[in-house]
Amino acid sequence: MSTGFFKVPKAKNEVVKSYKPGSPERKKVIETYNKMINSFTEVPMYINGKDVKSNNKKSISPPHDHKKIVGEYFIAEPKHIDDAIQTALDAKKKWENMSWENRSAIFLKAAELIAGPYRSKINAATMIGQSKTVHQAEIDSACELIDFLRFNVEYITKIYSNQPSSDSEAWNRVEYRPLEGFVYAVTPFNFTAIAGNLPTCMAMLGNVVLWKPSSTQIYSAKIIIDVLKEAGLPPGVINAVYGNASLITEKVLSDNNFSGLHFTGSTSVFNSFWKTIGNNISKYNTYPKIVGETGGKDFIIAHMSANSKQVATAITRGAFEFQGQKCSAASRGYISESIWKDVKKLLVDDLKSISMGSPENLENFITAVIDEKSFDKIANYIENAKSSADAEIIIGGNYDKTNGYFIEPTVILAKEPNYITMREEIFGPVMTIYVYDDSKFEETLNLVDNTSEYALTGAILASDRYIIEKATKVLKNSAGNFYINDKPTGAVVGKQPFGGARGSGTNDKAGSMLNLLRWVSPRLIKETFLTPTNYRYDFLEK
Ligand code: NAD
Repeated sequence: MSTGFFKVPKAKNEVVKSYKPGSPERKKVIETYNKMINSFTEVPMYINGKDVKSNNKKSISPPHDHKKIVGEYFIAEPKHIDDAIQTALDAKKKWENMSWENRSAIFLKAAELIAGPYRSKINAATMIGQSKTVHQAEIDSACELIDFLRFNVEYITKIYSNQPSSDSEAWNRVEYRPLEGFVYAVTPFNFTAIAGNLPTCMAMLGNVVLWKPSSTQIYSAKIIIDVLKEAGLPPGVINAVYGNASLITEKVLSDNNFSGLHFTGSTSVFNSFWKTIGNNISKYNTYPKIVGETGGKDFIIAHMSANSKQVATAITRGAFEFQGQKCSAASRGYISESIWKDVKKLLVDDLKSISMGSPENLENFITAVIDEKSFDKIANYIENAKSSADAEIIIGGNYDKTNGYFIEPTVILAKEPNYITMREEIFGPVMTIYVYDDSKFEETLNLVDNTSEYALTGAILASDRYIIEKATKVLKNSAGNFYINDKPTGAVVGKQPFGGARGSGTNDKAGSMLNLLRWVSPRLIKETFLTPTNYRYDFLEK
């Protein structure tokens, strides 16, 4: 029982370390990387606070060195899924009755463990397992995950303290109850921070969770579990199972205690979840909450008043960091004809200077894409562009999967604004540019709005304020995160809440209170002090 209205430490963003030559963090992360890549890590499932192995295993290899095996994970059989659900339900009563300050302390401790003793481990695991450069690993698996944990704890205190007004007749109280039953977190490969955030943000509100990470993120998922164990998360609160995604999901979504889905991944997979939930709706004890942050076809539109160097830099960073495998990555650009010549030269110069290879060599800006399926899909789009009359590759276009899944940063010039790579999410280092006539800026804004099914991120680059205002208005529904004179990537927790609508998801804004509100079911309690004893109102008097 709480005996005070406690204040949590003021959340602040974790400072991004530089990893510059000679820095202690650089030395430490290289040491940890070398140690981890030369050892063999087993990743058991995590059920009821125990490491659980099965008879079925799958090996783990770095995308940039796919012949090397760095570990293996264990695949769930139906009984493991049943156990994970049951154990979560068994843990629920104790967990939801734990005072919020004790729940919060676990996640605040987890944040500090990542900021300190686990920082090089979680970064090295993300470099090895997901092929991120050290900078991309640092801003994701260390800083963003730390920020999610710290800010979410602060947000839950704001939620709990948001109370209705009361007076001398009655005291009105809102209890922010966790959802009944259990919730399901399904996470993508591309952000270790998202993998950590989705299950933990629901758990800190008293929910019990079954978590299914992406099979290509399991190597760093293990570090998240190690941190939660050390932070003192009680058994059964978060249970992780790996393996056949459809089998696990089918079992979970047919359980009558299923009460919430927190999903991040592709639009088509999310649609299939929604359909299954719809088909099963009469089975559930309560209407499940559904949150999905999904795909993007993120844009940069550059007006003739924009600075060409700024446009080229926004494209190089916005489209190619982490090989374009960010949901927010720019992948279609609309550049005014009068600045295109300059932008093209600067962009080509930038891309020629970029080196590609293993993240172990810290000078590389581009590393490998996540797996063979993804590599083949991206290569297909590139081949299509090579043979299409509507497209021309102006730089890049080569790829090689002999040792790692490497694809050169590629820029396609589309002669037709509806060319396939202007519309579809590719999720790789491929940027398509359409050059528009200076006099057709308004028509181009409409093209931006109508060309794809998605509405996640987008950016306008211009110096003319009338143009900035016009673009902001016309593109009101084209992006959930809209950037003025910047690249469309790099949202920071507590500063730029993230998410989009249309085909990009339910726009519940990860890293904000709006998202957390989806994982509670408020109960209003009205307590009347002088309870009436006569049913007759004054107006009934004769
Ligand atoms: P994905 O859809 O392939 O996988 C996401 C999760 O769903 C994984 O855990 C996967 O195992 C699971 N899954 C896949 N197929 C399934 C099936 N048939 N049944 C049940 N589960 C299934 O996505 P990904 O390749 O891991 O991630 C990239 C996608 O995620 C891109 O579309 C990207 O735009 C999106 N994404 C969106 C955001 C956002 O905030 N909007 C953030 C990150 C990634």
